[in-house]
Parts: sequence; structure tokens; C-alpha cells
Amino acid sequence: MTHEPKMVREEDHPLVKAVVSLSCNKEWAAAKNEWVYKSTWFATRREDMERCACGHYPIKEIITVANKVNGNEAVIGNCCIQRFNFIGFDSKVFEGLSKQRINESIILLAHKDRIISDWEIGFMLDVYRKKRMSPRQYEYYANISKKILEQYIK
Ligand SMILES: [Zn+2]
Repeated sequence: MTHEPKMVREEDHPLVKAVVSLSCNKEWAAAKNEWVYKSTWFATRREDMERCACGHYPIKEIITVANKVNGNEAVIGNCCIQRFNFIGFDSKVFEGLSKQRINESIILLAHKDRIISDWEIGFMLDVYRKKRMSPRQYEYYANISKKILEQYIK
């Protein structure tokens, strides 16, 4: 008698079930394309933490998503975000936010989220890795970083 390895079907995952129930299409492969990235934040206080659509609680690395077909919204934790394929979001965002440290992924997302301007993204990408900045550059850098982190960290 042979034992086939038991496969966990993706459709049976709690996140997939929850999101499909909020979608128009009932097939996950099609349903997930109805969803778009909406916003990101990192919760530092317990009362700001949320529950992922999969049921996992508490989550402090939070992404909200919206269904462009029916307008539904859902909260997704970092635990499940890889199940979607959002362009412009990657988990390095939370690596930086948890340390209150700016990195390239955060800069790119902040521009996409219209927190920083075209000039500011160019400037930030240019200087964020520099060990030495002029006092003027540092002042800009510090102000823009503060603006970004205040937006994403609750
Ligand atoms: Zn989850």
C-alpha cells in the first residue's frame, strides 16, 4: 500500500477562502486578480494591531487591499501578502519599518503611495545609502524620512 503525500490545496487555505468569499469570481486564480493594493502600515501599539483575513491575530505588519470589482476591502498581514502578486510591494518594507529605518523598498512604496514627490524619490534613492551627506542633504533626508515613517508607523 502506497501513501500519497497529502497535498494541502490552496483553495483550502483560510486566507484564500476568506478572500474568495469577498470576491465576485469564486475561483482563487481569477478572484485574486480582482484585488488591488491599497495601503500599508506598521502598528506599534497593541490596540492598533489587526486581524489578517486568514484569522491570524494580532498582526502589526498590515496591508489593506480593495476589490476593484465590488468595492470590498480586506486586511492582510505580512503572513499572507505573498499570496497576492502586487507589483511594488515587497516584505523589505516591513523589515525597514520595524526598525524605523528607510530602505529602497520603502522609498519606492512611499512614492507609489504619493507620500513623496518625484523630486523627493530621486533625492532619497540617491542619498539613503550614503555614509556622508552635507548638512543640507542631511536635513532634507531627515525631514523626508520623518514624513515617510510617520505615514507608515502607527
Ligand atoms: Zn494571514
